Amino acid sequence: MTTHYTAPLADVRFALYDVLEVEKLFARLPSCEALNRELMDAVLEEAAKFSQAVLAPLNQTGDSQGCTFDKNTAGVTTPEGFKHAYEQFVEGGWAGLTAPEAFGGQGLPETIGAPVKEFIDSANLAWGTYPLLSHGAIEALRVIGEDWQREAFLKPIAEGRWTGTMCLTEAHCGSDLGLLKTRAEPNPDGSYAITGTKIFITAGEHDFTDNIVHLVLARLPDAPPGVKGISLFIVPKLKVDREGKIGERNAVRCGAIEHKMGLKGSATCVMKFDGAQGWLIGEPHRGLNAMFVMMNTARLAVGLQGLALSERAYQNALGYARERLQMRALSGAKSPDKPADPLIVHGDVRRMLLTQKSLIEGGRALGLYAGTLVDIQHRATDEAERKRAETLLSFLTPIVKALLTENAIECTNLALQIYGGHGYIAEHGMEQYVRDARITTIYEGTTQIQALDLLGRKIMQQQGAGLKLFLEEIAAFCAQHASNESLQEFIAPLARVTKEWADLTQSIGKRAVGNADEIGAAAADYLFYSGYVALAYFWARSVAAADASSRKADFKQAKRLTARFYFARILPRTNVHRMAIETGAESLFAMPDALFG
Ligand SMILES: Cc1cc2nc3c(=O)[nH]c(=O)nc-3n(C[C@H](O)[C@H](O)[C@H](O)COP(=O)(O)OP(=O)(O)OC[C@H]3O[C@@H](n4cnc5c(N)ncnc54)[C@H](O)[C@@H]3O)c2cc1C
Repeated sequence: MTTHYTAPLADVRFALYDVLEVEKLFARLPSCEALNRELMDAVLEEAAKFSQAVLAPLNQTGDSQGCTFDKNTAGVTTPEGFKHAYEQFVEGGWAGLTAPEAFGGQGLPETIGAPVKEFIDSANLAWGTYPLLSHGAIEALRVIGEDWQREAFLKPIAEGRWTGTMCLTEAHCGSDLGLLKTRAEPNPDGSYAITGTKIFITAGEHDFTDNIVHLVLARLPDAPPGVKGISLFIVPKLKVDREGKIGERNAVRCGAIEHKMGLKGSATCVMKFDGAQGWLIGEPHRGLNAMFVMMNTARLAVGLQGLALSERAYQNALGYARERLQMRALSGAKSPDKPADPLIVHGDVRRMLLTQKSLIEGGRALGLYAGTLVDIQHRATDEAERKRAETLLSFLTPIVKALLTENAIECTNLALQIYGGHGYIAEHGMEQYVRDARITTIYEGTTQIQALDLLGRKIMQQQGAGLKLFLEEIAAFCAQHASNESLQEFIAPLARVTKEWADLTQSIGKRAVGNADEIGAAAADYLFYSGYVALAYFWARSVAAADASSRKADFKQAKRLTARFYFARILPRTNVHRMAIETGAESLFAMPDALFG
């Protein structure tokens, strides 16, 4: 039995047109002016159809079949139907949706690419990992590639003829990229010979395309130790020269694929580079900066993966809660004509459903808001506006990545719980979402690494520049609606918690001066705290936007009631995180390592 999926077009449209007012934004962003509502609706509807009709039916079979590796050819076969779906994806022009037009893409803004990605990932997350990595490679080539590299590599990737990968991880080097050992020796022709083994490489090998372009972190012979000695290289599976001519097979091979908990249709490859020809991209020893271009894109995309899984699991759990009859409502029968009431009447089932709904819709507004920041950063004509978007985006990226993926773990588990034992067995498809969701808090930087990025880099090292901008934006929103009676139930607590956020940040900063371990001790709680406040802002904005819109009364009421639930039942989680932060590092570090057990 396959699970159901309908792309949430109404909520995406609401977030785009009403909450974020993207029409106004696009009207003033160069090369977005022509993007009217009709055009955006057409893209969203087509993406919905493709995801529902082509990708969703392959989700469960992809999970049960997984990928297979042939030792003799070092080839990987993806599950049945995956390759054909990719051909349809490319024919439909989806591969280069947001890639630059000059390189065969369609040049659409990321704000529109984001919901398309969400639909794809809801329909089939494992399949969605193949184009995901191409998207990051396009970004890296666009921003730091030389002209010939863009011509030779970006174009075929944007056209979907080739795909991209991101090769960072080695057996001894995961979160700490400073430890990586892969070597790059200069060749006489200006290329480099890359030698080393990368592990866990998503889409490192597959049967979708002939060529695969690996973006590989490696060390030059004169590299200083640590992260300051890492450079980035383009290493194609089939060699490509400066004229873009395709040559013989390069010395890079898949050595094995991993057996893993979920995401089974996505090939997770061990990649062996044995003097493979590679081209330096960006400056020597500045590979980490170059890689961050890719990683930031990918981090937002992984946040959307979390959102996508939460949405699909929720849709099915909601349907089940309406149909499954068990016990009577405590306040008396709600369906007296039936042998029992549907699950949805029970208090804790409603809590589980509303938790999912409020995290999903709030998370969607936050994720799409991040999309608008990407577009402003890339396209705005005003330098100050671009800079502001960049600072805000860099601050919000770890929050989007970590919160939406941690929410996915919570939401998919709640969805499974609503199915009871029928969720735990494979038949209903819910356990697949729990398994698939699990990786999203690990790859592209674990939640802990996102938390350190947020508190250590974005707050401490950059003096909270992004937080300051975000707090100002929330304050302006609160001021704008200060006299709006019907919004007071949200504005007052939002104003209170944003002030608390600023105070809390300062108090951590003060403690960290005397003891740097305070940062690591506070980081994860601080990330959740920040995320829940950010969602509160987007919920308050959503109610304001719904009230001001011409949406139907039911829609407006649903937004208000979900926001009310969020403020009543989810936002108070900030109290626990704040209290944990305030206890400081002492309780974590007092215990000698030897006494752990
Ligand atoms: C299915 C899958 C696909 C992947 N795809 C790719 C890919 O395409 N390309 C690629 O390069 N890699 C990929 N990875 C690798 C992935 O990015 C790493 O697994 C991840 O970055 C974590 O590294 P690690 O597994 O070595 O864990 P470690 O870095 O060893 O971390 C172990 C634990 O310690 C925690 N930790 C580490 N340092 C700190 C710290 N300073 N403070 C607090 N906690 C800390 C971590 O959060 C984690 O919980 C993939 C992995 C999987 C499983």
